[in-house]
Amino acid sequence: MEFSQYDIDALMYVTNRPELVFTEGQGMWLTDHQGKRYLDFLQGWAVNCLGHSPQCIQDALAAQSKKLINPSPAFYNEPMVELASLLTKNSCFDRVFFANSGAEANEGAIKLARKWGKLNKNPKGESRFEIITFKHSFHGRTLGTMSASGKAGWDTIYAPQVPGFPKADLNDLDSVVRLINEHTVGVMLEPVQGEGGVIPATREFMQGLRELTKRHNILLIVDEVQTGMGRTGELFAYQLSNIEPDIMTLGKGIGGGVPLAALLCREEIACFEAGDQGGTYNGNPLMTAVGVAVLRALLAPGFMESVREQGAYLSTGLQNLSAKHGLGAERGEGLLRALDLGSEIGPKIVDMAREMGPVGLLLNSPRPNLLRFMSALNVSKEEIDQMLTMLSEIITRIKA
Ligand SMILES: *Cc1c(COP(=O)(O)O)cnc(C)c1O
Repeated sequence: MEFSQYDIDALMYVTNRPELVFTEGQGMWLTDHQGKRYLDFLQGWAVNCLGHSPQCIQDALAAQSKKLINPSPAFYNEPMVELASLLTKNSCFDRVFFANSGAEANEGAIKLARKWGKLNKNPKGESRFEIITFKHSFHGRTLGTMSASGKAGWDTIYAPQVPGFPKADLNDLDSVVRLINEHTVGVMLEPVQGEGGVIPATREFMQGLRELTKRHNILLIVDEVQTGMGRTGELFAYQLSNIEPDIMTLGKGIGGGVPLAALLCREEIACFEAGDQGGTYNGNPLMTAVGVAVLRALLAPGFMESVREQGAYLSTGLQNLSAKHGLGAERGEGLLRALDLGSEIGPKIVDMAREMGPVGLLLNSPRPNLLRFMSALNVSKEEIDQMLTMLSEIITRIKA
């Protein structure tokens, strides 16, 4: 089929998309409408943790769709209970609420924190509601989560914002201390800022935040929508700094490509009463059955070791590439990595990589001087090598 035969104008415009329609995906590879193949280092924006259409997700969808698709969120179902149980057994949290997207899970976290702040008032007897978030952070695209995000320009697009989200600087504990007041109820952050350009919070900062929030009786909320589910080489990124947060949100990888997200908290924080929180698809068995399959795959013996190994392999490869072409530093955790290009050639690299033949390469440039790599967690060394070879060729052409 020719691109011009698709009625693309039936879609609402929200972003510039290349003139490609993807028709198939398998593992690290995507195929477009003309049969061209692409090595995919986007994986649906760090979503497809097991690659495109893995067998275990196909099987979970097929089996569950034959059994039960939607009993109603007002009833228990088996995959919902099983996934919640697996998540609590493998984390420091005791309670789980399922949602459909990262933004929705974060909205839930904000609501849970504000509810807790209503029950745990300040010495003046007032409810606490302010949540300190960070500059350059990304928490989603609802009005509440856009207000929580520290993305430039987002304070004015849909003004007025939802109030109550003062912004601190990542890895600067004093900047957090300065924002704490009698209305503060929590601090929310991504353990590695993803959309902000793969900027890890340091171990010391995470530990400092845990100590600080405990001392002030405020909640520590980690948005692990991008960092959770094995992405950083630990099942959850908070484990990298040996701390136990109060609330965590998951999205992206937990569904391996289907819409699933989760809000988790410790028992003492679980203060929703009947009617406070809900949603038509919360705990939907078709989606939670996929979550069970994905989490079981991540928990299989040796899987997380292999994520760390491939992460280190990619890191070394990027460092070598940088040395060869005189680029900047490489950074990240596990298989969430970025390369500083030293100049604003990111968008050009992304276009040239996609247009390469006979096979293309899909990359992301969250900032003009940066490339972000979000492979499947089961990527092979050969696929990493192939990506590095293609990328090196493009940079040579650009520098020529
Ligand atoms: C992607 C992302 C979100 C938003 O998730 P959606 O599923 O797009 O709503 C929130 N927080 C972080 C850290 C993310 O990377």
